[in-house]
Amino acid sequence: MSVNMEELEVFCKQLPKIELHAHLSGSITRECLHEIYKKRKEAEPSIELEDPMIVIPPGKVDYDLETFFPLFSKYIYQLCNDVQSVRYSTKRVLQDFEADGVAYLELRTTPREFKETGMSKEQYVETVLESIEQYEKDASTSMKTVLLLSVDRRDSFQKALECIDLAIRYKYRGVVGVDLCGDPMKGDVTIFREVFSKAQENGLGVTLHFAEAAKTSNDEELLVLLSFKPDRIGHVIHVSDAIRAKISRRKLALELCISCNVHAKMITGSFQDHHFRDWWVEKQCPLILCTDDVGVFCSPLSNEYTIVAQHFGLTRLQLWELSFQTISPIFSGEEEKIRLRNLMLSWREGNKL
Ligand SMILES: [Zn+2]
Repeated sequence: MSVNMEELEVFCKQLPKIELHAHLSGSITRECLHEIYKKRKEAEPSIELEDPMIVIPPGKVDYDLETFFPLFSKYIYQLCNDVQSVRYSTKRVLQDFEADGVAYLELRTTPREFKETGMSKEQYVETVLESIEQYEKDASTSMKTVLLLSVDRRDSFQKALECIDLAIRYKYRGVVGVDLCGDPMKGDVTIFREVFSKAQENGLGVTLHFAEAAKTSNDEELLVLLSFKPDRIGHVIHVSDAIRAKISRRKLALELCISCNVHAKMITGSFQDHHFRDWWVEKQCPLILCTDDVGVFCSPLSNEYTIVAQHFGLTRLQLWELSFQTISPIFSGEEEKIRLRNLMLSWREGNKL
């Protein structure tokens, strides 16, 4: 690796960054899953789960929409299904983000229940929040973490409403927003209008996975999603000119997940072909670099910054500006925005940018 490349990587790691689109279960590294597996296997030798190092071999990142979702429903959710494993994996995920220079993290997760261990959705959310609280108590940490709860596209209206109600109930402990996620080939999004408006009425931020798969990214569906009045949208891959113009006019904040889109072949071509370029040139919408699932695609947030410098020619100052402009679209309040602005301004001064 050239000296310049090494220097760029160090810069991107040290740059204070904001992560706004990271799924908790998808952010768990293989090593951490392996540790959980070992502990489970010791405690219950008859367990029928395979070793994560075999199921998700180290270095494998080419998961596409066909193989990605079953990895979670058939494996990761079954491995991390009790208080202990959720607590342990959450702590490890937070450590990984902070070690990569993340100053503020919005972690998202779908509340789920595990019949085999008796863990309810409420207990699951509480366990994640408790783990965050515990992590922040440690004096050596300075990263702020908040939680978004995700509605799955396959959910019924009732299930989605349950998720929003949980988000409202746990606002006081750090739930700041809600998300619509899940297999983009499944579900009928029209049924969720009311639940997202309830979230907004209750002061929660709204972000939606948007135009991920060509098949379901017709204008009809995208107009329905835009009618939910999201504060931010994620991915934004298959958009027509008409939808694009609407997004620009509204200056919606865009959560762009470059490595995920390339490795999962959600876009045609490679890094240099990513639609980051078009939005960057257009300069209408705040752009937010995100990892989506760093445990699966193995590209930490610092690497996403390295990628845009490498493939789109951003300077050090532009990388700093890119990170700085992600402060406005966060779902936390003014106090946190001020902390982040001060942190970033003094970092810029210290680094003479
Ligand atoms: Zn996502």
